[in-house]
Amino acid sequence: MTLANSNAKTGIIGYPRIGAARELKFLSESFFREEISEEEFYQKAHALRKSNLEFLKNSGLDIIPSMDFSLYDGILDLIQALGFIPERFQKLDLHGLELYFAMARGYQKNGRNAVALSMKKWFNTNYHYLVPEFDDAVSPKVNAGFLISALTEARDAGIQTRPVLPGPFTFVKLTRLTGSGSVSDLENTVTNLYRDLLLTVSNETGIQEFTLLEPYLAKDLNEEDCEMFRRIHKNIISAVPLRVYLATCFGDIRNVIADIPELGYAGLSLDLVEGKKNLDLLDGVSFKPGFELGLGVVSGINIWRNNYEKSLETIRRVQEKHPDVTIVITASSSLLHVPVTLRNEKTLPEEKLRYLAFAEEKIGELRDLRNIINGTAAPEVLENNRNLFKSPRTAADTATENRVKNLRETDFARQPVRSRRLKIQDQAFGLPPLPTTTIGSFPQTAEIRALRRDLRSGAISKADYDAEIRKHIAECIKAQEKVGLDVLVHGEFERNDMVEFFGRKLDGYIFTDNGWVQSYGTRCVKPPVIWSTIRRTSPLTVDIISYAQSLTEKPVKGMLTGPITILNWSFPGEDIPARESVMELALAIRDEVLDLEKAGIRIIQIDEAALREKLPLRREDQEEYLSLAVQAFRLTASGVKPETQIHTHMCYSEFGDILKSIDDMDADVISFEASRSSLTLLRELRDAGFETRTGPGVYDIHSPRIPSVEEFTATIRKILSILPREQVWINPDCGLKTRGNAEVWPCLENMLAATKRIREEQA
Ligand code: GLN
Ligand code: ZN
Repeated sequence: MTLANSNAKTGIIGYPRIGAARELKFLSESFFREEISEEEFYQKAHALRKSNLEFLKNSGLDIIPSMDFSLYDGILDLIQALGFIPERFQKLDLHGLELYFAMARGYQKNGRNAVALSMKKWFNTNYHYLVPEFDDAVSPKVNAGFLISALTEARDAGIQTRPVLPGPFTFVKLTRLTGSGSVSDLENTVTNLYRDLLLTVSNETGIQEFTLLEPYLAKDLNEEDCEMFRRIHKNIISAVPLRVYLATCFGDIRNVIADIPELGYAGLSLDLVEGKKNLDLLDGVSFKPGFELGLGVVSGINIWRNNYEKSLETIRRVQEKHPDVTIVITASSSLLHVPVTLRNEKTLPEEKLRYLAFAEEKIGELRDLRNIINGTAAPEVLENNRNLFKSPRTAADTATENRVKNLRETDFARQPVRSRRLKIQDQAFGLPPLPTTTIGSFPQTAEIRALRRDLRSGAISKADYDAEIRKHIAECIKAQEKVGLDVLVHGEFERNDMVEFFGRKLDGYIFTDNGWVQSYGTRCVKPPVIWSTIRRTSPLTVDIISYAQSLTEKPVKGMLTGPITILNWSFPGEDIPARESVMELALAIRDEVLDLEKAGIRIIQIDEAALREKLPLRREDQEEYLSLAVQAFRLTASGVKPETQIHTHMCYSEFGDILKSIDDMDADVISFEASRSSLTLLRELRDAGFETRTGPGVYDIHSPRIPSVEEFTATIRKILSILPREQVWINPDCGLKTRGNAEVWPCLENMLAATKRIREEQA
């Protein structure tokens, strides 16, 4: 059925910036290494930005976004555009790009120093944004050069765009107050700045419309929050003679949807993938004729082909309820969170590829859906899509499914209780106070990456490759002994990525050649895809860890990735329940843990780096997620002997609100990121009676800075002023794979020197 005079459009609110071959990453890195000039960097980056726009135009997208392109991060662009430059960066007296990247990456040059802005996960995605700071030195002033260049460039290319900016409410909510200014000062400042920013851009470019993207609306908002949101938007919209569109993503906007018609927007875009409730919520709202309603039916966060029947049903339901609005068929979020194109996928067979859609293909899906709705599509467009979903994608694996079904309560409980275990372990290991360790990986140097490339291209044999990797392991063990670390690691040289490595060895995964997604700045990840039931068919790491352990008397940690992290850093099957995949993964890791223990490995670290990442944004959904996560972790570890020590690691320090769940995972030791954030969490740990032994990262591995012995000493002292000495481990805040050896070893030397100094003082 086609409704009469349907004139649906297509649009998106963001497109991947990195380029189909990660051009932006390589370009930025060569700029950081000072191999290219600022001018060349800008010129090439702009060329990439323009080619994205041209692609979108040529593919017939009706509403093309601009200003979503960023050289590092969209929030950082705003920090610069709004003049939110914290004091420590102002003091450096830098400008333009140098200032921009100093805020992103920290600065250490010519005796001048500044710690980078802190980085946090962007809502429930694996993207990281830079956290704005509102300190007393901030002298807000609009500086929109880069954003304006995006628009003039598009205009010069004859491409009409609608700029998309992260919204003011989200900006306020994500900003850290670090000076004497209050939230309401911040709100006023940001409101005025956005107004000025929109006006400036409009005056200079003639643009008459903007989209403000407010993902924060998908979180639980109290009445105060809602009022703030309304106030900010009302104040801005009433002060600018422009069309303002509101876009939302990552969930439903139940707390504010009723207010939308009064706020003066020209349109609203909703996530109908993660925000299932939005559809019902829409029934209760009416919009003025011509209002533009964006329906995010194509997933912006996953890579499966859209089921057209289902999307059409949704779109038609809205059309019937709201016959006077203009429908925009869109993605549920920015397409930043999916890879760029399937065109460069050469390895996967067609019968698998046809189930996948990346950003480019999703643009095609939007176009198909629009054409079907508007009655201009050829019949086979829908027919072909229907055929994909007619029969199940994969065959059942009953043995594994039964293993999951037959899990009992005892499978999730380790014996004896932690306090007893820790005593047994203290005796067994005899480690010094404040034991030192690292998180697992050591620098993945060009040499190691070249090895992997050579293996892939067939230039060297698997045996040669293994032998070379073993050489690196042996060197790394020696170097760790030399700096005096207490618990060693093998260095993870054989792993390109902590999830892909496991995925490749497990049944049930498929891999793309180029399915890269931006994680932060220049860092991209290539999540593997859960295709079917997951199963371990043989040991994954036992060989290599046993080899490392054979080189030293000190304990070497077995290094595994936990089930929730594997799942969260994969593209999950859309048609497989999360619990199934998680428990299958947990069983696979459990089998590996037991095999490592059997091989004589006495400490095993099961990283849950991404545990918090997919924590549902709404509190009412969090309990279920956390209990699944805790159960899965316990299942991996519950089979070991009391004297085997289980570590875990998390890549953030934002777990104040989920402390209890983390403690419930029942690990013996946890390391986490703390060096870039405040020590509030340590107090929370103390106050909550957190039992897991804890290594709050004492240095920031995201930055190339080398902290001095004094700085380390001060950091450790601070930790010890809050946590009891018996509870504390000393370690960097994350794996060292992205750093160079030139920084890593001096850092560790200083870390060890500081630890020894404090041990002596306290002896
Ligand atoms: N063990 C991993 C490493 O050191 C952990 C990485 C991470 O937390 N992202 O690289
Ligand atoms: Zn980490």
